[in-house]
Amino acid sequence: MPPVGLGALLLGGLALLASAAQPPNVVLIFADDLGFGDLAGYGHPTSTTPNLDKMGAAGLRFTSFYSSSAVCSPSRAGLLTGRYQTRSGIYPGVLYPGSRGGLPLSEVTVAELLKAQGYATAMAGKWHLGVGPFGTLLPTHQGFDHYLGVPYSHDQGPCQNLTCFPPNTSCFGMCDQGVVHTPLFWNLSIVEQPVSFPFLEARYNAFARDFIAACARRNQPFFLYYASHHTHYPQFASQEYTGRSPRGPFGDALLELDGSVGGLLQALQDSGVHKNTLVFFTSDNGPETMRMSRGGSSGILKCGKGTTYEGGMREPAVAYWPGRIAPGVTHELASTLDILPTLVALAGAHLPNVTLDGFDLSPVLFGSGKSPRKAMFYYPPAPNPLLGVFAVRYGKYKAHFFTQGAFHSGTTPDQDCHGLTPLVPHDPPLLYDLESDPAENYNLLKEAVVGPEILAVVEEIRLQKSVFDEQMRFGESQVGRGKDPSLEPCCTPQCQAKPSCCRCASRYT
Ligand code: MG
Repeated sequence: MPPVGLGALLLGGLALLASAAQPPNVVLIFADDLGFGDLAGYGHPTSTTPNLDKMGAAGLRFTSFYSSSAVCSPSRAGLLTGRYQTRSGIYPGVLYPGSRGGLPLSEVTVAELLKAQGYATAMAGKWHLGVGPFGTLLPTHQGFDHYLGVPYSHDQGPCQNLTCFPPNTSCFGMCDQGVVHTPLFWNLSIVEQPVSFPFLEARYNAFARDFIAACARRNQPFFLYYASHHTHYPQFASQEYTGRSPRGPFGDALLELDGSVGGLLQALQDSGVHKNTLVFFTSDNGPETMRMSRGGSSGILKCGKGTTYEGGMREPAVAYWPGRIAPGVTHELASTLDILPTLVALAGAHLPNVTLDGFDLSPVLFGSGKSPRKAMFYYPPAPNPLLGVFAVRYGKYKAHFFTQGAFHSGTTPDQDCHGLTPLVPHDPPLLYDLESDPAENYNLLKEAVVGPEILAVVEEIRLQKSVFDEQMRFGESQVGRGKDPSLEPCCTPQCQAKPSCCRCASRYT
């Protein structure tokens, strides 16, 4: 064989090695206000979620997966930074259209870390981490090359002026009045205001599909963050999904979300990158049961959105990567806080030089070991350094040191969940074994005889709480910086009679 042939062979071999070592693509799908009991694969009797069920059957399904907060903005801060929202200042509650604050640019997002590692990055959907003057806090300033989406919750504007299906039909409910119509952003520009919901998900899908195809053509690894508005109130769906679910408007919205999941999986397949792509699905917080049948379901878990009971923060979660992640169910403890360290490890990137609250879940994903996460700490939506965390899960046990209801968790028969149920300190704490009692019904410290092992568990959890609270450094409250109506996003900034004059036909093509 002539030397040139040998050289070509060697080069070919090196190219093969290089492609084998190509870091995986990541599609991170984040649902909104979707509870533990909302998916068919998690036991809901009338939800129709064929694509998510397929992902769940072929992927690794978590039963003890937690978001970092029971409401939207802080949960998203935790997901993208791997740090509790207290550190980044995303408290109390959520950000508003005119909020001065947002996720500080000094925070390091998973998108920034992957971008620095050579990834292309894009986000579709709900951001809810601030807009800022001239969009300085939008995703394209936080590590995303491309963004198409609504910058906050779609009920944070007058819903009667939003279009739902059929066209020219107002969306259900009134939502927030006296602020601008909900805008659609493409990178830093408003391309439609108010946003039109019957066509929104299709646009996101086309945007995601084009991004995946372009990255595949360039052979560039990518990170796509798909933060759907579904199944947040007010629910909407396109013509294809409206009226199709036996579960009503919530079921239709969920069905459309499921259709998007199917579209994303198909796009990966069509671009030939499905074998080297991790798809991860979870939700930001529990169901908003105050919306009654338009709210979601936490299944057997107690309460929902806004509370530190299990229904507030425990979420369905699926890791899907056929050929790399074996199908199955895991009861290992895991959190949205672990996404950043896990993706950084998979990409061969470096962790940022900041205090992280997450762990690399690779042992759980690839079946090589236990979860490195031993505890989960539950902050209420309005955390307070004097009280610290309200509850701690340590192994299978959970102790509540404080409980409080939330208006988001109203209307169900359980009074503990409701908004008028005040803050109650518990000393000794309420203690539950979440493996035998996931519904948090039976306080182990209320039993006739409390054995020494249980008392030792309480002492250990007290220690966990005090060590955690002691090391926590609260960042400046970003929500506490207040609102400025002039910061509300407006497609016609010079128009008179704000906020209603902020209205533009679609310029998105
Ligand atoms: Mg939410």
